Amino acid sequence: MLDPFGREITYLRVSVTDRCDLRCVYCMAEDMTFLPKAEILTLEELDRLASAFIRLGVRKLRLTGGEPLVRKDVMTLFRSLGRHIAAGALNELTVTTNGSQLARFAPELYAAGVRRINVSLDTLDPAKFAAITRWGRLEKTLDGIFAAKAAGMAIKINAVALKGVNEDEFDRMIAWCGEHGFDLCLIEVMPMGDISQDRLDQYLPLSLVRARLMERWTLADTDYTTGGPARYATVKETGRRIGFITPMTHNFCESCNRVRLTCTGMLYMCLGQDDDADLRAVLRKPGATDTDIEAAIRAAIARKPKGHDFVIDRRRNRPAVGRHMSLTGG
Ligand code: SAM
Ligand code: SF4
Repeated sequence: MLDPFGREITYLRVSVTDRCDLRCVYCMAEDMTFLPKAEILTLEELDRLASAFIRLGVRKLRLTGGEPLVRKDVMTLFRSLGRHIAAGALNELTVTTNGSQLARFAPELYAAGVRRINVSLDTLDPAKFAAITRWGRLEKTLDGIFAAKAAGMAIKINAVALKGVNEDEFDRMIAWCGEHGFDLCLIEVMPMGDISQDRLDQYLPLSLVRARLMERWTLADTDYTTGGPARYATVKETGRRIGFITPMTHNFCESCNRVRLTCTGMLYMCLGQDDDADLRAVLRKPGATDTDIEAAIRAAIARKPKGHDFVIDRRRNRPAVGRHMSLTGG
């Protein structure tokens, strides 16, 4: 599948639920209203749509959310999607998780074909972890991370850089990741969804973080890429990679190879734009064939926009897009 700007679409991210067992301050308001069940695609429908994308050339599939591992019976979906790995149609099946349920699911994920996972962890300090996630416990996430490691999965830690919250912790996190063999990826806060708090209070440009890190660590730029927006460097002292995702200070759209499907079957061609395609309507039309679904996907890809224009500033201090990251999947 080629989009109008010649970018080949090979990566699909699927948000399997908008619900979560945590309430991270940059992601959700504490009193979130979630979608009614009838609007959410069933696991069979998610499988049918994802399989159509794979037939059309998607080689990498990531399940995310909300928290993907809190969706009831989600392992059924992992197992059924795993058939595409076994058949060689899919190169990678992966997941982004907050880790809270990983201790329970790590062996099953591995058995389904998951070999790499991203775990979100913004701090190694239990009190800060509780403050950032509102409802979480650091120990539970750490148990999950080590269960995933023991199951044989490669782990990347994702940390959102938050001004005045975890900015003094990145040295410690680099050392900790080095010690345990994890890669680390730092992410700038993006203006998505109303979180009943001021975004400007959270925003910390990674250009600043990187400059500070370079006083202590030797960072060697690499052209390593996972096909995603992160720019990677190797930390010479630990031998591990560190990635920087900088939607605010560096626009990464020119190499974008991905589209995102929400748990309601809306396909977003760009994280930062409101343009979407309703695949649920196609899927739920009586007698819908695989050909109908594939045609709808192709038509949507033909509309993929060139890029986003996230801005956080005083004049425009409101979300660039109204939906939360937990709907589209981070
Ligand atoms: N619940 C899972 C987790 O936390 O990993 C998966 C979904 S979560 C929405 C995916 C990623 O998006 C997490 O790493 C999270 O830190 C990040 N995220 C959420 N809201 C964000 C925002 N406004 N700006 C930047 N990253 C955000
Ligand atoms: Fe939940 Fe992930 Fe959002 Fe945190 S970042 S509230 S864990 S969906």
